[in-house]
Amino acid sequence: MTQDSSVTPNLPVRDIARALVFDPDDRLLLIAYEAVRPIDPAAPEARTFWFMPGGGLEPGETHVEACRRELSEEIGLTDSAIGPQVASCDGPFHLFKTPRFARERYFVVRLPDATVDTSRLAETEDNPVLGTRWWTLDELESTAERIEPAGLAQVARDVVAGRMPAPPVALAWQSPSSGTPHEGQPSTDTPTEDSRMFPETLKSGYRSFIDGRLPDEAKRYAKLAQGQSPEVLMISCCDSRVSPEVIFDTGPGELFVIRNVANIVPPCETGGDFHGTSAAIEFAVQGLEVKHIVVLGHASCGGIKAYANPSAPLSKGDFIGKWVSLVGAAAEKAGDQSGPDYLTRLEYAMVAQSLENLMTFPFVRSRVMSGRLALHGAHFGIARGELLLRDPDTGVFKPAIDREGRSLSPTSLIGCFQS
Ligand SMILES: [Zn+2]
Repeated sequence: MTQDSSVTPNLPVRDIARALVFDPDDRLLLIAYEAVRPIDPAAPEARTFWFMPGGGLEPGETHVEACRRELSEEIGLTDSAIGPQVASCDGPFHLFKTPRFARERYFVVRLPDATVDTSRLAETEDNPVLGTRWWTLDELESTAERIEPAGLAQVARDVVAGRMPAPPVALAWQSPSSGTPHEGQPSTDTPTEDSRMFPETLKSGYRSFIDGRLPDEAKRYAKLAQGQSPEVLMISCCDSRVSPEVIFDTGPGELFVIRNVANIVPPCETGGDFHGTSAAIEFAVQGLEVKHIVVLGHASCGGIKAYANPSAPLSKGDFIGKWVSLVGAAAEKAGDQSGPDYLTRLEYAMVAQSLENLMTFPFVRSRVMSGRLALHGAHFGIARGELLLRDPDTGVFKPAIDREGRSLSPTSLIGCFQS
């Protein structure tokens, strides 16, 4: 579900060629389309967006060939010279009927006059075409209408002034597909239709799942429907960067995961409060009879920081303030607060404290003492992806090694980051 433009498993990728078509008065030709999704229900006119003529490459076509064909189909140009590529725009585009990851390339075309034939335009397009218009540069720069992509006016200005961008300028879509009103338009406090929709990134991630992982693991899911029997209970932080299933490359049914702020196991107590973490530990140990419990701490933990630097509005009266007060027992063992590595030491100490607190649960203690359950501490460094394991004898965190004693440190793999 990454948004990295180099990895786009979720949407079909389309290579597209478009043209900045200028007339002799340096006006730019744009086409008005109607978006298929409402941008803002309260402002139906915001469904309109302006875009350059052009379209997708047919098999075997170059960008220039596609640009020439599209200009012929859309605006009746038959022998125009396709000039240099001056800009590009890569990203998910959802305003047309078929969502896509667009890889667009924009070329300059200069016309001897402002005559274009748009009689076939509507039939070549999936989306409703509302019209075409020649825009002066001043109009482009000052309009509140939606021109795609953002920054097109500046590129047009540069081209007209003879400043050909080299290499081509990388542009981005106006507001992302969410349709946030762009600058100059009044915003509204009422939620837009888009904001009430299930997040598009999750839907496209799910699409990727049903196209890829689900068929690969169909048998496994069918078996898992009968019940789960994970061997490992993982207790980690809610932090979005520290996903155990990703770090340990596990499939469905392999990890029973509890995530909370700062990977805290509270001491066993049976007071009247609600104990979500304790309940999940109880189920994993007593119900699922896991063989291992791993407490996974991590670098740059916001929960640990919240304890170490209590500041308004965080207080013991807040949910977070009250919860991270449980870090206090770890802080007593983390040593001098002044060193630059204090937060890291506190992260390590919190892992150790959670392991200690696990032993206050009678059902954990009895299983550990009889050898049916093992407890482990670990720490994940986000920036480099390194995993440190806590030595149960010394309490020292050391790089993970494999069964043959070889280092599992990622340092050698990502040394290129170190320049
Ligand atoms: Zn954290």
